[in-house]
Amino acid sequence: MILSRRHFLAGGAGLAAAGLLPSPLLARSPSPLLPPPKGKRVVICGGGWGGVTAAKYMRLAAPDSEVVLLERNANFFSCPMSNKWLVNIVDAKYLMHDYLAPARKYGYTFIQTEVAAIERDRKTVITAQGPIQYDYLILAAGIGYDYGAWFGDDRAAAHYTRTHFPAAYIASAEHLTIKNKVQSFEGGDFVMTLPPPPHRCPPSPYERACLIAWHIKTNNIKGKVFILDPKPAPAPIGEGYRRAFEELYKDQIVYVPNARTTGVDPYTKTVTTAAGQFRFDDAILMAPHRAGEMVDMAGLIGRNKDGESTGWADHDPLYLHAKDDPNVFIIGDSVGRVSDFFGFYPKSGHVANRHARMATAHIARRMADKPLEKLLPDNLCFMMVNGSPREAISVQFAYSLDVFDTIEQQTHEIHDRDATLVEADFEWASAMYEDMFA
Ligand SMILES: Cc1cc2nc3c(=O)[nH]c(=O)nc-3n(C[C@H](O)[C@H](O)[C@H](O)COP(=O)(O)OP(=O)(O)OC[C@H]3O[C@@H](n4cnc5c(N)ncnc54)[C@H](O)[C@@H]3O)c2cc1C
Repeated sequence: MILSRRHFLAGGAGLAAAGLLPSPLLARSPSPLLPPPKGKRVVICGGGWGGVTAAKYMRLAAPDSEVVLLERNANFFSCPMSNKWLVNIVDAKYLMHDYLAPARKYGYTFIQTEVAAIERDRKTVITAQGPIQYDYLILAAGIGYDYGAWFGDDRAAAHYTRTHFPAAYIASAEHLTIKNKVQSFEGGDFVMTLPPPPHRCPPSPYERACLIAWHIKTNNIKGKVFILDPKPAPAPIGEGYRRAFEELYKDQIVYVPNARTTGVDPYTKTVTTAAGQFRFDDAILMAPHRAGEMVDMAGLIGRNKDGESTGWADHDPLYLHAKDDPNVFIIGDSVGRVSDFFGFYPKSGHVANRHARMATAHIARRMADKPLEKLLPDNLCFMMVNGSPREAISVQFAYSLDVFDTIEQQTHEIHDRDATLVEADFEWASAMYEDMFA
């Protein structure tokens, strides 16, 4: 569905009533956010891993274009490496980055604002500060939590769960809550429900569990981390994780396979799964993931053959544009299935960065009336499983096309824990931060 101005006003009034938007912003006449551009304007919705990278590469690929990045947060907070911050291996400064520095350096406009509606028929994004028109739109919307899968329309239960047992899988206030939980944990059963695939950064919940277990172990806390996994075994790097659970955290981690969450009662601290019921003292409750809300606003959520929502963007797998709208590109975690061989790209910051480079190259060629090139991402991921000595495991993905242009995936996993992989992890993160912010 493409939202109309009427929808926006109704939705905006709802947001204002919920205290999410200051009502004077809505009452103000919606004068344009910026004056008309001299050349083509590319608007990027979402300043996370995909959006920040896209803003820079768009300016590099098409220096005459005006690039505008819209993001609700004041500062960039990196989810990658944040598991290490939970247990004080890195500090918050390491994860936070200044949005304005790359905007100045590469000559794009960063606007901190809430995107409230997207009117593709008018090529307009409606923000809390006014409308802005685009020639090309890049949606880098990230993920949303599907609490509806657990609670239906019971928003109070969803809100209570998000407040008391947040997932911290979206850069938000939740991260500090989780850190305080981990640091003040005095013992008992600490439950982690894992979302079903596809979800953001598949190996990272196990990394989080390992590092919390390491914290519990090294501080002699009498507690256990219960990993309630809907899958039959950890994946990816399953063997490496299995060994870490058994060899490092035999007394701290209880891994429960085939534990698809079927019910959550946050008030009595109870999770019901296909593998049994679990009471907890504290928890990180991860609801299923779906595409970020801006994909819904653009009317670009896919449908399966029965007409049901897939929860993820419907896009051209090879060129990343919306199937019915060549001027709108979707990048990063929101993208839907790309291949009959392996389904979804891993929802990672690395892939979001590569998508950003691909989409901006496509847009630059469109602007120059050149045919699009076939471009593919890659993915590289290091997961720290031990804090003393510091050791990590790793997974790498490469992509190629078969003769029918179907995307193929090659996977390389390193299961042996190794200190050099921790060094490689920090080098990877430095290179990515530099690519986005330096
Ligand atoms: C614990 C953890 C560990 C991870 N580790 C790794 C790792 O080691 N390697 C790796 O590659 N990846 C890792 N990831 C995954 C990585 O964080 C994501 O894949 C990446 O952030 C996806 O980029 P994105 O641009 O699609 O989404 P995001 O980075 O989430 O960006 C989306 C942006 O849109 C903004 N936004 C959303 N809605 C609105 C709106 N209505 N108005 C304005 N702004 C809006 C959000 O504030 C956000 O900044 C990890 C994730 C987690 C949670």
